[in-house]
Amino acid sequence: MQDTFVVYENPILHRENNGSEIILSTDNEVRNVIPVPINDWLCDLCGDDVPVQTDEGKPIAVFVFNNTKALCWNCTKEVTTYDSELLMRIGWCSCCTDKDANKWLYHERDNMYYPIAKFNSDEQCDRFGGLFVEQTGQELVCITGELSEPLQIDKQER
Ligand SMILES: [Zn+2]
Ligand SMILES: [Zn+2]
Repeated sequence: MQDTFVVYENPILHRENNGSEIILSTDNEVRNVIPVPINDWLCDLCGDDVPVQTDEGKPIAVFVFNNTKALCWNCTKEVTTYDSELLMRIGWCSCCTDKDANKWLYHERDNMYYPIAKFNSDEQCDRFGGLFVEQTGQELVCITGELSEPLQIDKQER
């Protein structure tokens, strides 16, 4: 199976929807269930804190490797150095869509724009866009608001 990223656009909402606990088990027997605060996210690779909200209370999207390992940004970058194609096949969790995330990144191919990712903040959009260009060598176009997709580029405007 191919590895994929699933992005939780609103991680706090995601935990509200899905519960939040660490289950410790040995030999298939549950030993302990520890509740975790919905805004307390740790990287499942390195254990660093993963910020899920800006100072203004806006959601920060979290990249979740194979929908099981939430990663900090450093580990997200690290994983894409082994497989840059990961950045081309990002999935989005449908339970925690961020309706205010309107900064879309599009990839241009054969005169069409294909959506790659969208974010709430300029900062996260720039950070992801920079990584994408660095790892894939391909350009992205940032557009505020959703296009009807995929969109044919109007040749008159080129
Ligand atoms: Zn990490
Ligand atoms: Zn979700």
